[in-house]
This record gives sequence, structure tokens and C-alpha cells, in this order.
Amino acid sequence: MTFRATVLTLFPDMFPGPLGMSLAGKALTAGAWSLDTVDIRDFGIGVHRQVDDTPAGGGPGMVMKADVLARAIDSVATAGRPRLLMSPRGRPLTQQRVIELASGPGAVLVCGRFEGVDERVIEARSLEEVSIGDYVLSGGEIAALVLLDACVRLLPGVMGKTASAEEESFSQNLLEYPHYTRPQIFEGRSIPDILVSGDHGKVAAWRRAEAERLTRERRPDLLERRSPRASPSKN
Ligand code: SAM
Repeated sequence: MTFRATVLTLFPDMFPGPLGMSLAGKALTAGAWSLDTVDIRDFGIGVHRQVDDTPAGGGPGMVMKADVLARAIDSVATAGRPRLLMSPRGRPLTQQRVIELASGPGAVLVCGRFEGVDERVIEARSLEEVSIGDYVLSGGEIAALVLLDACVRLLPGVMGKTASAEEESFSQNLLEYPHYTRPQIFEGRSIPDILVSGDHGKVAAWRRAEAERLTRERRPDLLERRSPRASPSKN
């Protein structure tokens, strides 16, 4: 099963953008995943292909029209894929949700613009609102690229060593341990002795302890999400 992404956007030229490069780009060329775009403007109304209108009740900006978006969404065969709306109001994207999405058939991603999207199309087409963080972007395209990048790197064969995906930040509600590489001494700072000791057991224990220390210091909220079996050692 190939992971298939369909992006509905007013700016199809923004895709694949950075996803056409490096590992994601190679995987796209190799057919490990596919990407197609739908230009929402193609479903606009009248000679000007209008896609937005003034907000009911007044206020600044424009709102994407429900009828236009519904037609654009209905033009896409979802084939079991979730329909996501990139939205600062959405549920914050997590590595867990990324893992779920990457193990499925793909996703249909709707990119908002202007002040946002008419609420009725969100309800009528059961769009799952997804946020990439507590800040406001000018459009959903960069958010869609972020979500797809996070998914694509988890697809089979895309990353060299799958073990790194299991150990990296968030996979076990832990931040990752610090990394080092040669030279042995950089501006007077040495690589920790244990990492050059050749004792794999001690290296693993050190990394685990460092991951727990960093998570406690920087993201104690992650530790609270861990299951009791996976809870950190107290030291
Ligand atoms: N008026 C909206 C609000 O205050 O929530 C912000 C609209 S924003 C200027 C335009 C579009 O960018 C949104 O409809 C959404 O698609 C996208 N967007 C902005 N911030 C986002 C975020 N943090 N996560 C996901 N999408 C975002």
C-alpha cells in the first residue's frame, strides 16, 4: 500500500516544495509515496472563480466558502484516507498521530487561507482539524508540508535505519539523548568518556538517563503521558 497524499490548496505550486528534495524527494521519485494537488480555485464561482466572501456578522478578512470547498473535497476519492483540515484551532499534531497516519493509506489535506473556513463545511465533510502549534501561519500549506514530512520519513525504506525512528524524540514520550561525533575535543569540550568506552550496556544506560533528565528539565508534561511500565527511573 502506497501512502497517498492529496492536498487541496489555493497555491498548488507550493507542492512538493521541500518534499521534492532529500529523503522525501527520493522516496517520491521512487514511488514510496505519492502526492497530488487539487486547486481549490478550479471550483470557484463565476468568472472570477470566487473562493471567499465576507464574514457573516462582520469583522475583518474573508472566509473560504463552504460550497466551493465542499465541491473541491467531493472531487477527491478518499479511499479510506482521513480528511484533515490544517487549523490553529485543531488538535495539536503529535508523533503518535503521525505514526498512525504514516501506517495508513495516506491523507487528504485541506489548506485554509484568509480568516479560515466556513464552519459548516468542517461539519458537513467531517474534517479533522489539525494544528501544528500554538501560533498562526498565513495559510495551511506550510502546516501540510510539516505534517507530510513527519509522515513520509516514517514510511518503510525512506529512512536508512528504522531503529532511529524508535529512539528519537517523542516516540516513547521522551526527548532524545544528546549526540556527539568526532573530533574528540571541540573547543575544550570532550565527548563523554562513556560513549567512547565501547561498553554498549553502559552507553544504552547513559543515553536512557540523559533522555529522562532532558525530558524532566524541558518537557515534564511528556513524562506525565507515559504508561506506568515506561515511567522513568528516579535518580
Ligand atoms: N483566523 C484564524 C484563527 O485565528 O484561528 C487564523 C487563520 S490563518 C491566517 C489561515 C489558515 O492558515 C488557517 O485556516 C489554517 O489552514 C492555516 N494555519 C494557520 N496557523 C496554523 C497552525 N498553527 N496549524 C495548522 N494550520 C494553520
